[in-house]
Amino acid sequence: MDIDVTGVPTRVSTGHLPGAETVEEAISAAVTHALPHTEGAVADYIPTLAAADPETFGVALAEVDGDVHEWGDSRVEFSIQSISKAFVYALVCEELGHATVHERVGVNNTGLPFNSVMALELNDGHPMNPMVNAGALVTTSLVPAPTPARQWDHIRRGLGAFCGRELDVDEQTYRAESRTNGRNRAIAQLLASYGRLDGDAEAVVDVYTRQCSLAVTTRDLAVMGATLADGGVNPVTGQQVVSASVCRDTLAVLASTGLYERSGEWLFEIGLPGKSGVSGGILTVSPGKAGIAAFSPRLDGAGNSVRAQRVTAHLSRSLGLDVFASAASTKEHDLDQH
Ligand code: GLU
Repeated sequence: MDIDVTGVPTRVSTGHLPGAETVEEAISAAVTHALPHTEGAVADYIPTLAAADPETFGVALAEVDGDVHEWGDSRVEFSIQSISKAFVYALVCEELGHATVHERVGVNNTGLPFNSVMALELNDGHPMNPMVNAGALVTTSLVPAPTPARQWDHIRRGLGAFCGRELDVDEQTYRAESRTNGRNRAIAQLLASYGRLDGDAEAVVDVYTRQCSLAVTTRDLAVMGATLADGGVNPVTGQQVVSASVCRDTLAVLASTGLYERSGEWLFEIGLPGKSGVSGGILTVSPGKAGIAAFSPRLDGAGNSVRAQRVTAHLSRSLGLDVFASAASTKEHDLDQH
């Protein structure tokens, strides 16, 4: 999509957010910019997502000092969907370590849709990265627990620790997705046929479907993102959820794979790691500074929320968060030394 940020005042990173008042003003300006964008369509391949109110729009920014700024429908619940993949990945990396997960799941973009079967066939059954469904299924299967029920418990508690409250499944979404997830079951069977999936394929899909159905708010997502931005410490509860190095690895993976096959475009326009989900959420992380979340159910052709992309693009610039942006030093260069 064409993200137009003409005229947005652009600040370059100072290492800190610019202060609460400026943050609040930036959120209002970003919302004003994104609100008129009613193009795109609500996801329809999972029945409960098709019933979402397309006008819902929430924004939240959680700072690493624990302050949370919210706008609009930031407390409306929706199913977390693919955004769960980032956090299950972090939990599994914490338990199994960088090298094992790297080898089993990978970190490279497939360039193909998130539920592509062809991507698996083209790569000898290797799932390629944890943010496509194949890689997420392998990641979920790696959760170290003796039974699927215990794996599920580990995931639910772990994601709850990231957002600082106990999370529950949206049962309606879980049931609807369980009835319609033939494609994910096929991907799991294919992974198993390549010898790349631990455990029973049907049970893995069931745990994965539950994780995607966890009900969260935009505020929750912002706090989860702030935990990744804060070296793994939830800035609201103070709990160390994962290590700082796991956060770093997770964010590096998100930078190249978080926005489906539009991940390159996202990094080019926004300059930050992010993850989107088909219910309409996008979570973006500014390392050392904040988690930014936006929710609006109308999606572009790749499954990314139209308004959430626009609001985030605006904030990335106006708050000076783009990790690739720099300005020439204002210090006088000492020419004699060079
Ligand atoms: N539960 C969804 C699926 O597996 C997640 C898709 C997404 O958010 O990308 O199809």
